[in-house]
Amino acid sequence: SYRKGGYHAVRVGDPFNSGRYIAQRKLGWGQFSTVWLAYDTHSSKFVALKIQKSAAQFTQAALHEIEVLSVITNGDPSNSNCVVQLIDQFKHSGPNGQHQCMVLEFLGDSLLRLIRYNRYKGLKLNKVREICKCILTGLDYLHRELGIIHTDLKPENILLVSTIDPAKDPIRSGLKPIIERPECNLNGGSTMSIIEKKLKRRARNAVAKISGRRASMGGALQNSERCLDGIDMRCKVVDFGNACWADKQFAEEIQTRQYRAPEVILRSGYSFSVDMWSFACTAFELATGEMMFAPKDGQGFGEDEDHLALMMELLGKMPRKIAIGGAQSKEFFDRHGDLKRIRRLKFWSLDRLLVDRFKFAETDAKEFAEFLSPLLDFTPEKRPTAQQCLQHPWLNLSSSTGKKMTNEADVENLDAGMSKLHV
Ligand code: ADP
Ligand code: MG
Repeated sequence: SYRKGGYHAVRVGDPFNSGRYIAQRKLGWGQFSTVWLAYDTHSSKFVALKIQKSAAQFTQAALHEIEVLSVITNGDPSNSNCVVQLIDQFKHSGPNGQHQCMVLEFLGDSLLRLIRYNRYKGLKLNKVREICKCILTGLDYLHRELGIIHTDLKPENILLVSTIDPAKDPIRSGLKPIIERPECNLNGGSTMSIIEKKLKRRARNAVAKISGRRASMGGALQNSERCLDGIDMRCKVVDFGNACWADKQFAEEIQTRQYRAPEVILRSGYSFSVDMWSFACTAFELATGEMMFAPKDGQGFGEDEDHLALMMELLGKMPRKIAIGGAQSKEFFDRHGDLKRIRRLKFWSLDRLLVDRFKFAETDAKEFAEFLSPLLDFTPEKRPTAQQCLQHPWLNLSSSTGKKMTNEADVENLDAGMSKLHV
């Protein structure tokens, strides 16, 4: 998509906004944009430069995101609310057209990468707690102070905050700004964050283990999560491309499939509580390494119905009034509130799942399930708000026991997901 209307091709050392920003390396990309690490010569800080595709609809989407981000940034002058901040915005002309650009504060890896690097084993509950507090602080700010619904909360859209400032501490962070375009622009110097370095080291250790050099690596392999010890787990909510206001919504179908609330599937209308549902799914995934719901279509039923079935198997039957109350309800439910095509459900419970499948200690499972369950209420109005959730005692527990770690073999033997339960 590097053509007219598409992405803008960037080379290391390219200047943006009359030379204020210098491109350093690519950080990531999305459907609509590429995101580059850039050096801000005004503030002498690293920033994230998001360069939108140039076609009109992408520019429109970027302008919407800028509008939301401006409200977010203006309302949080001390930058303490766990939501990404907008630093600048401008247009950049290139061979593929005019690209709307956003300059955002530079953050670290996403929680999805953290889960992956942890080899889908789940993080220690104390880490999960720290991350949950940040996300809830962000949601409370968005919901209560700004009236904004994120609508796409998931591990990918939550980024870790680097605890060291690369501009002030370039040696520790390994970040040295590239000010001029290098002769050969492939090797622009090391730009790894501390977390990235630890994760890379761990990935190397994992390779060493596979190749049978375990002994020489010592205890570091026993519990690879140890590599993250000492890292202050702070994070921020990002990606406001789909955000809306509670009283000004744009789409009926919102959220990424696995994090989608039941009222969205049923088209019963939605509000802030859809983010609370996604938050619970995200917290579960952090703690277990697996998605809470991974629906698939099957013989004679679609993905939506599978999703509803998975929800009920874990959370109990949906109240009839809720089940039949949406514009799409008739697609899935009969008048008794039973699913039309998936008739036999295998009920489980959240705390049993945590113990049986994820090898949580009984107490940990019970406490974590008590924290999550109210957020997964089928009646949206009954879900706690972010503000209420921040008061939950689970967030201030400190489990010295930690959850019982599964060993590698166990993890590999787990099957693909819970979606097969009822088939
Ligand atoms: P899109 O709206 O096109 O999906 P995102 O805002 O999700 O774009 O950004 C795409 C990717 O760029 C993210 O998944 C992440 O890897 C990276 N990224 C985005 N914002 C930042 C940031 N502020 N700091 C560091 N990396 C970022
Ligand atoms: Mg995205």
